[in-house]
Amino acid sequence: MLLTLSTTHRPASDLGYLLFKHPDRVQEFKQSFGKATVFYPEANDERCTVAVLLEIDPVRLARSAGKRSPDFSLAQYVNDRSYAASSMLGVAVANVFSTARSGRGDSRQAVADAAIPLEITIPVLPCRGGPDIARRIFGPLGWIVDAEPIPLDGRFPEWGESRYVRLTLTGTLRLADALNQLHVLLPAMDEAKHYWQSDDEVDKLLRSGEGWLATHPDRELITRRYLGHRSSLAGRALERLAELGDDVVEDLEPAADEEVTQPPEKRASLNTQRHEAVLAALSELQVRTVIDLGCGPGAFLDKLVREPSFTRIAGADVSARSLQIAARRLRVDRMSERQSERLELFQGALTYEDSRFSGFDAAVLMEVVEHVDPPRLAALERVVFGAARPGAVLVTTPNSEYNPNYEGLTGMRHPDHRFEWTRAELQDWAAGVAAAYDYSVELRGVGDVDPERGTSTQMAVFLRG
Ligand code: SAH
Repeated sequence: MLLTLSTTHRPASDLGYLLFKHPDRVQEFKQSFGKATVFYPEANDERCTVAVLLEIDPVRLARSAGKRSPDFSLAQYVNDRSYAASSMLGVAVANVFSTARSGRGDSRQAVADAAIPLEITIPVLPCRGGPDIARRIFGPLGWIVDAEPIPLDGRFPEWGESRYVRLTLTGTLRLADALNQLHVLLPAMDEAKHYWQSDDEVDKLLRSGEGWLATHPDRELITRRYLGHRSSLAGRALERLAELGDDVVEDLEPAADEEVTQPPEKRASLNTQRHEAVLAALSELQVRTVIDLGCGPGAFLDKLVREPSFTRIAGADVSARSLQIAARRLRVDRMSERQSERLELFQGALTYEDSRFSGFDAAVLMEVVEHVDPPRLAALERVVFGAARPGAVLVTTPNSEYNPNYEGLTGMRHPDHRFEWTRAELQDWAAGVAAAYDYSVELRGVGDVDPERGTSTQMAVFLRG
């Protein structure tokens, strides 16, 4: 199994720094299912190519096989695993380039942060659904996709095409994004995950999918295929993707190979309910100017701009990537002059005073506080309630008491959450902040009500004293 990745970014040999792998060396990395070798077939200033060659050890693979792998005796030894790129290649790429995937670039940080010309080739890739699926999956991420079907046997064209393609992706992307996409999308092409999937798998998917999966038009297909069509895991993943601020259909069709135990729940997505609850509070307070602090990829801003009663709207986030997605979603490049005067998007950290946060009737902190390290929370309070001092502050955050209602959820709802509060904990925090900065506060629930555990989301509505 082979994958090559090339760049023509000048100097191309920077690729060695970006991947934390020296172009002059051949390095081997042991994997649970075999061995990955990383080497550079070419490395000069014009073009640099890294190759990942994965050799599968069929015996090890058979021993580590999970419950859902083909475990009937012959299939353990006779399968295409040793020859075809597959989920194992996705995992190997993720392992050997884990530092690059995190976006770290050290001495080449500016290049690591930039979109650079990339070309990825996988000579043999199993692709269920054929070239169309490859285009659907990679196309919306900005890749030019060349997926050429491989005939079953060149000597017998009448046998038709195999389920393999030769895939070439060309595009200008951030290297970390490209690597994270491969981690998720190679298994999604293959659709036959080779190992047992744990809850951890959902976390891995969300981590690698950060910044692109929640807005991918085929996120549902990708999530299902990545998780090997286990609808319980896929349902959980999609629910959590919805938590990230993008509307995802929640009532999933159960996968064909899964027993139906419960009818799919029919309800408005929690995300939509949250948007509606905050919009209702803003309208109740007759807010005209509003800033969405930690706006993420802009799903709520999209709702705000549709309400003519808001005369000035701002979105701020620390993540440049999220802001890019928000700008795309809101089509800021095609906005009329009047609209673009009404809306501003900017990068900013909520733990540092910033005059751009001031001068609004209301500030919204939707699903943001739980992403802030507890020791930094006091800084956020000072910046928002002490310095910016909007007339109202609307804070939404998960209610951890409700978590047992999410089947199979063991930890927190998102890997980046630093905490999730009970109702009493939010009450404590909110009362402390209100007293310290001269605000009054009222707590509300958002979402379906569980008589004991309350609602999934909780909201604090602060009014300046
Ligand atoms: N409000 C959005 C996104 C919630 S996810 C929604 O409800 O859909 C949390 C967001 O907070 C992320 O986009 C993250 O980048 C942002 N964030 C976390 N810590 C931040 C900080 N210190 N300053 C600014 N934004 C921050």
